[in-house]
Amino acid sequence: MNFNSAREIIDLSNSEGKKIYELMIARETELQGATEAEIRKNMARSLEIMKKAVEDSITKDIKSISGLIGGDAKKIYKNESIKGGTICGAMMKKAIAYSMGVLEVNASMGKIVAAPTAGSSGIIPGTLIALQEEYDLSEAVIINALITSSAIGLIVSKNATVAGAEGGCQAETGTAAAMAAGAIVEMMGGTVEQSFHAAATSLKNILGLVCDPIAGLVEAPCEKRNAIGASNALISAEMALCGVESIIPFDEVVDAMYKIGRSLPFELKETALGGLADTETGRRIKKEIHNN
Ligand code: SF4
Repeated sequence: MNFNSAREIIDLSNSEGKKIYELMIARETELQGATEAEIRKNMARSLEIMKKAVEDSITKDIKSISGLIGGDAKKIYKNESIKGGTICGAMMKKAIAYSMGVLEVNASMGKIVAAPTAGSSGIIPGTLIALQEEYDLSEAVIINALITSSAIGLIVSKNATVAGAEGGCQAETGTAAAMAAGAIVEMMGGTVEQSFHAAATSLKNILGLVCDPIAGLVEAPCEKRNAIGASNALISAEMALCGVESIIPFDEVVDAMYKIGRSLPFELKETALGGLADTETGRRIKKEIHNN
């Protein structure tokens, strides 16, 4: 069992009557010789790390090593200045806080799961953990969702890139949002086709986004892009679950993302020489951080 595209996953799912996570488990057991129990155990360990990062970010005082970010996840989670504590709804508020929190933990040298990268590590835990709490979902359901998300990440890795240095931020936070969106659809009872409509929609929404980290640190604008990535995933999943389809299939969106990434100048691919990193404020912050 192996697959290299969303189309192949959809065809396999139709012929074998399996969900994405079941196909991914079959692939891993065959190619890596791991048992299903081992795969689930490893994913449970990843989920544990994700949950610890989320928990730390909303309960502890976290500051990044540079001092550039920290404390914003807690600010959102505990917000009382807005009437009712949120304008986006309780679940979205959690997804925003949690996804930003994981980035804060990463920037303070804490432990996170790169899913698919450190810079985009907040989107999957932020959305899945918020949904688990909102809908009282079991650990097994979230572990299945993580396995589904890994299959979507695999397709992008095989056909394009998940690295900001190669494809810009669209490749990092765009892929993470696609992974989360497809997994959310499956865990909420959607079809395999709907999962890939959601994944396509979230990646399309972020095409062209450059990688321009201030002072070359995976902190800003990365943290806020994870919050927007989480909302992108949730909105795309909601659309797909309601029957809204992506006109361009996921595999073609991935191809487009890769072409765009390759056409970006090097200043906009993690070199911190362009975009927000090259603004007056960005350059001043870089100087201050490096002088210290
Ligand atoms: S701006 Fe660059 S470093 Fe930051 S999340 Fe995006 S791709 Fe990663």
